[in-house]
Amino acid sequence: MKIIKTKRELQQFALEIKRSGKTIGFVPTMGYLHAGHMSLIDIARAKADVLFVSIFVNPTQFGPNEDLDLYPRDFERDLAMCTEHKVDVIFAPEPQEMYCSDNTTWVEEKKLSGPLCGASRPCFYRGVTTVVAKLFHLVMPDFAVFGWKDAQQLLVIKRMVRDLDFPIEIIGAPLVRDTDGLALSSRNRYLSDDERTRALAIHRNLLTARKTVEEKGLAALEGALEEARQGITASGGRIDYVTALDVDTMEEAVSGSAGLLIAAAVFYGTTRLIDNEVIEFSK
Ligand code: AMP
Repeated sequence: MKIIKTKRELQQFALEIKRSGKTIGFVPTMGYLHAGHMSLIDIARAKADVLFVSIFVNPTQFGPNEDLDLYPRDFERDLAMCTEHKVDVIFAPEPQEMYCSDNTTWVEEKKLSGPLCGASRPCFYRGVTTVVAKLFHLVMPDFAVFGWKDAQQLLVIKRMVRDLDFPIEIIGAPLVRDTDGLALSSRNRYLSDDERTRALAIHRNLLTARKTVEEKGLAALEGALEEARQGITASGGRIDYVTALDVDTMEEAVSGSAGLLIAAAVFYGTTRLIDNEVIEFSK
């Protein structure tokens, strides 16, 4: 497995691979890898001739009072997991390598990134789209895999790729959970045992809301969401949002919507967790 730290070396290596006619698959991550990341890597591995994974805790997607400095890191462990899953190239730049100190150019998606995490974390999606666009220019992948765990992020990236004509296929991978239902996340590491047990309420309540809407339709949505909010609050969670939107437009779901994203962001202690359920409506 090749480990690359500079943009120049990465771009040159990617170009060589492209010129040899091989396909490039790409999985961008912030490291501290877990089985959720590895499921994306396995999907990409099965499809690509050469598989690139980036490990970069992107400073531009963190707000001033967020957990950039505390974000968990374990590069050696990440490397071992990537070796085991047959990754070919790791790109792990330092922030000063990734961004010029006087960087003034940003990529911004203006609609799908508005609600949910975009509303609570104003600079977040601008940081995500900018770093992903930069990574796409460096890696030049044929396809890239993103998790449904970050459903809004997946939609925003798909929109960016469409609007800016990146010749890249974006593949959505299913959300991976622990055996008890907690969505896997690098941030679970911050949770105390007690908080982790309480946090199971997120998935439990989203599932109940999902079942209610599946059985009774959209008319039951507001009641189901309110019940979920009450259940999550009772578990000790501090709700950022528990809400539902049309999964394509990020607007209010209506009877013609193709699908519903039921999404939650909840704090347990100081740790902010996100989770979601997606219902596809049959036409
Ligand atoms: P992160 O390192 O948190 O930025 O995540 C990198 C990629 O892994 C993103 O596309 C995430 O959506 C995806 N991912 C993280 N956790 C999970 C999970 N539990 N299931 C599926 N994909 C995940």
